[in-house]
Amino acid sequence: MKTVFLNAAKLDFDSKLDFSPLSDLTALTNYDDSSNDQIVERVQGQDIIITKELPVGRDVISQFPPSVKLICEAGTGYNNIDIVAAKEKNIAVCNIPSYSTEAVAQLAITFILNLSASLPQQQSMLERKNFDNFTKFLQVPHFEVQGKTLGVIGAGAIGRHAIKIALVLGMNILVYDPFPREWEDDRVKNASIEEVLKQSDFITLHCPLTADTRHIINKERLALMKPTAYIVNTSRGPLIHEADLIEALNNKTIAGAGLDVQDPEPPAIDNPLFSMDNVIMTPHIGWRRYESRQRLVNLMADNIKSFLAGKPINVVNAK
Ligand code: NAD
Repeated sequence: MKTVFLNAAKLDFDSKLDFSPLSDLTALTNYDDSSNDQIVERVQGQDIIITKELPVGRDVISQFPPSVKLICEAGTGYNNIDIVAAKEKNIAVCNIPSYSTEAVAQLAITFILNLSASLPQQQSMLERKNFDNFTKFLQVPHFEVQGKTLGVIGAGAIGRHAIKIALVLGMNILVYDPFPREWEDDRVKNASIEEVLKQSDFITLHCPLTADTRHIINKERLALMKPTAYIVNTSRGPLIHEADLIEALNNKTIAGAGLDVQDPEPPAIDNPLFSMDNVIMTPHIGWRRYESRQRLVNLMADNIKSFLAGKPINVVNAK
């Protein structure tokens, strides 16, 4: 059984990961990165393909040899792979549903706490030797989060973990998810997306990027938010219509944003978001902590082991 990891350096950028859980199962070849042409060349004679957010579209999949039976996405989101084209060629696609659940939820909460204390503004004022926050009344928003409302859009693994932490911080929670759950804590309530946007002090996005969720946050929906409210996106950049967000931030329709993901990534060098002091951006780091990445390798080995045993798990194109 042969496996090729087409862009292993994206996952193992610090060469710290132990790939033995995978190499114990199959003959594993790791490439740092692969262009479209190299993908087609490198999948020849392989049974299992691993990618980390590498675009694998219909044009590429159509050139896969019949030996390829499984594509493993080394992550949770799999919008980079044309899963229908794979299905048509009898290739199963599997993902890793929850290797970085805690880390991404922690990052979303980190954004919320930073925004509530205006840390980026305060830091940037001090860097400019502006001491107004010492000598005058505080010039920037600075408030406690307990009693505030957190709106969660998408309450899957990460959304639910964010809810757990937010409850410890004393927040009330409004949830929009097309598949609503029952909540044990009466501080958590389900609501329509419009109500979540209208009533929340922070909105955090945790739904996958699909045709339905692309631009789920647009001009009309941003206009529903309170002018004092913040939006946090640690899920996928295209969930937010970025030009509409920039306009809403410029017009003070909303108070600020925390964005681990952008559209495109990296953003254009002249993207106005870089110069807004009420915006915190990170370079898609939710999944990048060492612990999460090693867990991902271990879970990928579980996916492959189950697949080889004829009992595939985490298949996202079974239907
Ligand atoms: P999950 O599948 O457990 O949960 C997704 C939830 O979104 C589900 O409850 C689903 O019902 C809900 N949903 C689906 N369509 C929706 C819609 N139209 N509106 C609202 N909710 C909707 O996934 P998860 O593990 O919680 O991960 C969520 C997303 O986080 C992933 O799809 C991925 O894009 C992103 N992610 C980002 C990073 C990062 O590095 N920043 C790391 C891991 C995952």
